[in-house]
Amino acid sequence: MLTVNAYAATSPTAPLEPVTIERRDLGAHDVLIEIRYAGICHSDIHTARGDWGPASYPLVTGHEIAGVVTEVGPDVTKHAVGDRVGVGCMVDSCRECRYCEAGEEQFCVEGNIGTYGATGKDGVMTQGGYSTHVVVTEDFVVRIPDALELDVAAPLLCAGITTFSPLHHWNAGPGRTVAVVGLGGLGHMAVRIAHAMGAEVTVLSQSLKKQEDGLRLGADHYFATSDPATFEQLAGTFDLVLNTVSAPVDVDAYLGLLAVDGALVNVGAPPEALSLNVFSLIMSRRSYAGSLIGGIRETQQMLDFCAEHGIGAEVEVIAADRINEAWERVLASDVRYRFVIDAATLA
Ligand SMILES: [Zn+2]
Ligand SMILES: [Zn+2]
Repeated sequence: MLTVNAYAATSPTAPLEPVTIERRDLGAHDVLIEIRYAGICHSDIHTARGDWGPASYPLVTGHEIAGVVTEVGPDVTKHAVGDRVGVGCMVDSCRECRYCEAGEEQFCVEGNIGTYGATGKDGVMTQGGYSTHVVVTEDFVVRIPDALELDVAAPLLCAGITTFSPLHHWNAGPGRTVAVVGLGGLGHMAVRIAHAMGAEVTVLSQSLKKQEDGLRLGADHYFATSDPATFEQLAGTFDLVLNTVSAPVDVDAYLGLLAVDGALVNVGAPPEALSLNVFSLIMSRRSYAGSLIGGIRETQQMLDFCAEHGIGAEVEVIAADRINEAWERVLASDVRYRFVIDAATLA
């Protein structure tokens, strides 16, 4: 066992604090990663605070991990010491079901094994990236191309793939119109990626406060959803509306923005049930869908795409002793656009 430094939640309400945790001995197919940066995702906060069900403590969150391989098990073939690598929201799955076989491990029928707060195949609870090292089986470790700095690459492992996957699945590209709802951690990645795919990109944000950022990130248009005229002006316009906001929205209003055959896709998840008028779908053969991260193969594809197009996240790098403050700022939407922990400050 390797004892390593980490920052952990110790209860749903207490501030995070420095702890040490154990990483398992390297199995034949395991990779030991020295973590350089870990992004802070809103899911970390929801999970640690028990918003999505009771958590076990101490809990080390973090599923946007970028680092360097420092040791490999004897049968590892995919990664070598010195490789720059990443780990996202999953660290294993059953490997046998139809979805695992198709490379969509996020939909594993047994449930994918989450990077933190899940039970690993060794029976021990998984602990995430707010830490100096992590041990992960090679198939769930992806390569980070040299063209991407590790700090701006870290958020790609959750925010990047969460937006890339639906954009890819619903064919964002030349001649297609895409609206991104919300310009936060997920939204700013969606804008960059959709723009790089060649789509015409519109940001729909509550206000015009971040308009300059949105246009700089690659949006062609920017509208405020607080202005009812926006919904009239843009009615029937988009092939894809990607909703990154986890607050409840007027589903019919957003469906009304879609062209025939358009899709409204949620990656933000409000805890409340939403209702909609089915006529909003029928009249223009529209779809309302959801999307969950992406498979390992697609995550690698996303990283290669981002490297090719020079796309990273916009990050604010922080020392570990500022994690609690960063969490408060994430809750207040006061970050442009992702906090990333410098793991060297945990050593
Ligand atoms: Zn996340
Ligand atoms: Zn499976």
